Amino acid sequence: MAPPKIYKNFVGGEWVESASGEAFDNLNPANCSELAGQFQKSNSSDVAAAVAAATDAYHSWRLTPPPKRGEILFRAGRLLMERKEVFAEAMTREMGKVLDEARGDVQEAIDMTFYMAGEGRRLFGQTTTSELPDKSCMSVRSPIGVCGLITPWNFPMAIPAWKIMPALICGNTVVIKPAEDTPLSAYNLVKTLDEAGVPRGVVNFVAGFGPDAGAPLAEHSAARAISFTGSSEVGRTIAQTCAGSFKHLTLEMGGKNIMIVMEDANLDLAIEGALWGAFGTTGQRCTATSRIAVHKAVYAEFAKRFVERARGLRVGDGLDPKTQVGPIINESQLKTIEQYVGIGREESAKLLAGGERLTGGNLAKGFFFAPTVFGDCDAKMRICQEEIFGPVASLIPVSSFDQALEVANGVVYGLSSSIYTRDVNKAFRAMRDLDTGIVYVNAPTIGAETHLPFGGTKQTGNGHREAAVTALDFYSEWKTLYIDYSDKLQRAQIDT
Ligand code: ADP
Ligand code: MG
Repeated sequence: MAPPKIYKNFVGGEWVESASGEAFDNLNPANCSELAGQFQKSNSSDVAAAVAAATDAYHSWRLTPPPKRGEILFRAGRLLMERKEVFAEAMTREMGKVLDEARGDVQEAIDMTFYMAGEGRRLFGQTTTSELPDKSCMSVRSPIGVCGLITPWNFPMAIPAWKIMPALICGNTVVIKPAEDTPLSAYNLVKTLDEAGVPRGVVNFVAGFGPDAGAPLAEHSAARAISFTGSSEVGRTIAQTCAGSFKHLTLEMGGKNIMIVMEDANLDLAIEGALWGAFGTTGQRCTATSRIAVHKAVYAEFAKRFVERARGLRVGDGLDPKTQVGPIINESQLKTIEQYVGIGREESAKLLAGGERLTGGNLAKGFFFAPTVFGDCDAKMRICQEEIFGPVASLIPVSSFDQALEVANGVVYGLSSSIYTRDVNKAFRAMRDLDTGIVYVNAPTIGAETHLPFGGTKQTGNGHREAAVTALDFYSEWKTLYIDYSDKLQRAQIDT
């Protein structure tokens, strides 16, 4: 076997090694004997160099007309389209998600790139009237400076694109520290941006681990804004770090997303949706359907059919077109899932399917876990309250719509929720009363589109929304302009 490829960092337009002189392995979670390359084990001096390069590049990037920035992004979008298949396969090898979903992940990056490229000719502000004569007022978006981007492994290209593209179109420069489990997809994205003509230093890529490379980025005084997606635990640490200097920060963290199935739902559709929502991406989505509240009138039938289908899902290597559920990202996540299954049993939830690691045949080479269903759960059980981030769904019987709402909102998170019903009154009440940033009607809790705001209420985040035009609100500062052409001093609120 050929030695694994060693990938470098990208700093100031140069591909460079880490000052640490060390590299780390990017494993294929479906087959740990295979490496998806080695990446730089970066430290604070690598981060400092990247932030310095981004600071330098900011002077001219912020003055580059936004439509010109957009042209570069359009070129990047077209290159990503050409490379979609290659990048998707690379993603499956480093992260495990089935090839179809990896293609979707690259597509999401493409969509975001084109969407933000188009924003180069909008970036709309407002013009308005003045209370004083011969005076004009407007607001414009101005860039912030260097943005530090820290991303997780579950959407290895889409999430980096969600952060990089709006940051760039607004005129910021960036340093990205991708997840240590999946640096290759972020590398592919950054390399494509370079080839599309992004000027040197505008995009910098520093691979490595959270404490070594993520923390110094969040702490760096010249990184004026930080965008983080990942665990609540790390999000809290980063928030505390940023609070010291009032650094702008967007956090996107956990979810405990619910699907409500009412007695009048199309059950076939609900079961199909629940399977996709709970076991798509092996349940490793922040929007995964991890709780399913089912009306008692249809609970028994739903449970029976859902469990049958969950047991029938084909688990395996995501590169095999027959695979429906890929591996778990790494051993530590696998252990977390095993622990939660243990907790569910202790809480006397009924284990209806799965519940164990799969090691038969080729599965022994990777981190595989059987699609798992707990039945007859109480909404207060830990498995119904805490984020598991794996292929585990908990069924909660409910006796009314109101009870379903109470269960839905009775968690600390507020990312996504869904209701299956054919009753328009219930659908509209659910849209109003479900306390989540995203609500689906007759669709599962996953499936965000890039031109709509993405994010959650309560402890899911800190009030910002990614994607859509709302992302521009984070990556720019409003600047308010007053132009007085009266040739005299006019005092607002006083010279009436
Ligand atoms: P997960 O549990 O899903 O891996 P994490 O929150 O641990 O989520 O990781 C998300 C991202 O945050 C990764 O890029 C990781 O390297 C980074 N990270 C982890 N710890 C820290 C930290 N202390 N400071 C900054 N970034 C961190
Ligand atoms: Mg990997």
